[in-house]
Amino acid sequence: TSLSCQTKEAIQTTCPYCGVGCGMQITVQDNSNPSAVKVKVLGDKSHPANFGKLCVKGSSAGETIDFAGRMLSPQVNGEAVSWNHALDAVADKFQQVIDQYGRDAVAFYVSGQLLTEDYYVANKLMKGFIGSANIDTNSRLCMASAVVGYKRAFGADAVPCSYEDLELADLIVIIGSNTAWAHPIVYQRIAAAKKQRPQMKVVVVDPRRTATCDLADLHLQIAPGTDAMLFNGVLSYLAQQQACDFSYIKQHTEGFDKALQHAQILQGDMNRVAKDCALSVAELEQFYQLVRDNQKMVSLYSQGVNQSSSGVDKSNAIINLHLATGRIGKEGMGPFSITGQPNAMGGREVGGLANQLAAHMDFANPEHIDTVSRFWQAPNMAQQNGLKAVDMFQAVNDGKIKAIWIINTNPVVSMPDAQAVREALQKCEMVVVSDCMQCTDTTEMADVLLPALTWGEIDGTVTNSDRTISRQRRFINGPNQARADWWQLCQVAQRMGFAGFDYRSVAGIFREHAALSGFENNGQRDFDISALARISDEDYQNLKPMQWPINQANPQGCKRLFADGKFYTASGKAQFIPITPQLPRNRTDSEFPFVLNTGRLRDQWHTMTRTGKTAKLMAHRDEITVAMHPQDAEKQNLQNGQLVVLLGKTQQAYRVIARLDVTDQQAKGSVFVPMHWTRQFASAGNVDALIPAITDPLSGQPESKHAVVKVEPFDAQ
Ligand code: SF4
Repeated sequence: TSLSCQTKEAIQTTCPYCGVGCGMQITVQDNSNPSAVKVKVLGDKSHPANFGKLCVKGSSAGETIDFAGRMLSPQVNGEAVSWNHALDAVADKFQQVIDQYGRDAVAFYVSGQLLTEDYYVANKLMKGFIGSANIDTNSRLCMASAVVGYKRAFGADAVPCSYEDLELADLIVIIGSNTAWAHPIVYQRIAAAKKQRPQMKVVVVDPRRTATCDLADLHLQIAPGTDAMLFNGVLSYLAQQQACDFSYIKQHTEGFDKALQHAQILQGDMNRVAKDCALSVAELEQFYQLVRDNQKMVSLYSQGVNQSSSGVDKSNAIINLHLATGRIGKEGMGPFSITGQPNAMGGREVGGLANQLAAHMDFANPEHIDTVSRFWQAPNMAQQNGLKAVDMFQAVNDGKIKAIWIINTNPVVSMPDAQAVREALQKCEMVVVSDCMQCTDTTEMADVLLPALTWGEIDGTVTNSDRTISRQRRFINGPNQARADWWQLCQVAQRMGFAGFDYRSVAGIFREHAALSGFENNGQRDFDISALARISDEDYQNLKPMQWPINQANPQGCKRLFADGKFYTASGKAQFIPITPQLPRNRTDSEFPFVLNTGRLRDQWHTMTRTGKTAKLMAHRDEITVAMHPQDAEKQNLQNGQLVVLLGKTQQAYRVIARLDVTDQQAKGSVFVPMHWTRQFASAGNVDALIPAITDPLSGQPESKHAVVKVEPFDAQ
């Protein structure tokens, strides 16, 4: 039994939803019915992400913890079985596939919803013991481009800023992010700071007029995909105005001349940039001047930058501007990518992506492979990158991957070309799905189902967008048969004969992860949390939120990185990247005239398995809609409120039915559809099935902001 279920004491934990990572205080109010415990949820006033505030999703989280729809027992081929039976089946099949086809014939596909400890164990098992790096995560769909952008510029995946910088800045440029809806507490912090300091300016760069624009002094409604042109233009303008920090450039960076040359040739002419970005010269000039005149500047960016076939270049175009002006590592300054999921950042720390090793190490460096291998005493250490998400499901489709374990995510809905993912899983010899819910589009595809614990029932840590590690704590018991993901992974590992998976608690896993981060750290890796490697179980239980690195030099954590102008490249200098802007790969034509942009609603989370339970949240939008500009609707002879069908240029066999929302917030020539609805909620279809599997060649992140569709009246079908 859970002690916390017996007490009225408030438990401090972290919100299960977005990457803001707000602290919560939960009080169990009535646990007389274990499958529908009543709790009170308040914001944690001591948490540095939110200081007591919660958005509507977070404050409704207590309404989502009943057991309705939960998976209640392990199942093999549709029949309820014991845990022993199910775990043996998984271990035996994985071993048989490895023996017959090799280590790369198996894969794990995990999630930014996993706790860091789960993520750590999954990576250790796949990369160190099974011996393949075929483990990727749904965070690939959300922030992989930002990761590569940081690595190219700084030599490591390191977010330099703190949320506090958003309050200290004089200029915030929000690029490709509807912060008001997707990261509401960050937006509220910016809004409150702007109220206190009206001289603070906010610029929103977004093809849509979103709720975030309510705060904007300037909204640049750029043509979709032209962000890199805009930021190359700024760099060129700053150089021409002698507004670069040449002393900083000389001391702390490399490659400025080449990056500037590229920017000047391609985007040196303001008229040309204005035309290409679909802005007026006056708008552009106003933006350039704001950037020139405000040293304290934060660029806040998210999926609109990352979900692109050139998302890495876009993020480096933004970072170039900060390096050219020395606006990094100081209060109120820096390029700041925000993560979508609650633990996308924690996954990055333990090597959650197929092209990473734990503790910010890489397969590209043989010493790193050796370090991790020796620390784990790994018998079969993987030697090279594994398959990124889109390629992984393609390999399933091609029959190269014969067994896949999907943990805590719903790729049949969320992957691009989602219909192809469904077909691939149908063909796969063994699909194992760990999930807390019995019925999702992905659990339907499973040969083996493993019931997982979920938020409120699990213990561990998560890391939010500004590197703050926070505890998620258990305050209720899950269904009898549900088990933590790390436990499931360890059980399979032991059945496959591997040592090193006999953890007795999550605290033990956390200590090992912290110890690896500082193992033989010769100064080349300064992101360690080695100061936490020996914490007691009690200290782990009481761990306060802290920003990594947490080590000898920073025992209490670190607010901003690169304050000393030293970076993690071989030369210790940050790298400018010359950017040649690319347009999105999908192009509209007369038959398919609309760019399809997808994204989040204010009150829903992912595929609504949790938020869909709450009447209050469903009241915001209770059905799938497609936003379209009035002139486009008139041209298509469509009326506001009618049902329409969206058909994709490359996925013509699939269609999505949605209700038309005619609004001048939407730019002409493009439509917007929220990504939450699935077949579980309506027969409307799943919009990610219309997104082609086109990815950034460096990050592997899909171009989910730029599919191409036609929109027809539903009646005509
Ligand atoms: Fe939760 Fe994000 Fe809302 Fe904070 S902003 S309460 S983390 S959903």
